[in-house]
Amino acid sequence: MSDCLFCNIIKGQIESFKVFEDDDAVAFLDINPAAPGHTLIVPKVHAVNLFDIDEISLRRLASTLKHVAQKVRTATKKDLMIIQNNGKDAGQVVDHLHFHIIPRTQGDGIGLMRGRIEITKEEMSEMVEKIKSAK
Ligand code: AMP
Ligand code: ZN
Repeated sequence: MSDCLFCNIIKGQIESFKVFEDDDAVAFLDINPAAPGHTLIVPKVHAVNLFDIDEISLRRLASTLKHVAQKVRTATKKDLMIIQNNGKDAGQVVDHLHFHIIPRTQGDGIGLMRGRIEITKEEMSEMVEKIKSAK
């Protein structure tokens, strides 16, 4: 979809800090992260939310989610919160299905996605390298 932010990121028409890409999905760093390494994973097919995506694509995405989460876990050495919002009232702002992979630290108070951190482009680039090279 031409007016979808994440479709445009997938097509490379909007800059992003990609940490993973295959035929079906892309993962990139959240531009306004709740913690260092906060990553979003999206299917390449445009689907608004969990209820809009076909089952085969969803199964592939679930498998890739685990793969990318493992890399984020290794790279950050943190426990992970994985969340996915469906609809405006649930906190969905971008209407292209995405899972948040959020490294957590005890007492970080992220809970309901408050407390975003400041991060520089250099720190974002360093994190891209760390996650890309992680197993
Ligand atoms: P949600 O509230 O679940 O729809 O999450 C949307 C997420 O997309 C938020 O955490 C934003 O910080 C993130 N976001 C918005 N624009 C961009 C962008 N251009 N690149 C990376 N992440 C983005
Ligand atoms: Zn889209």
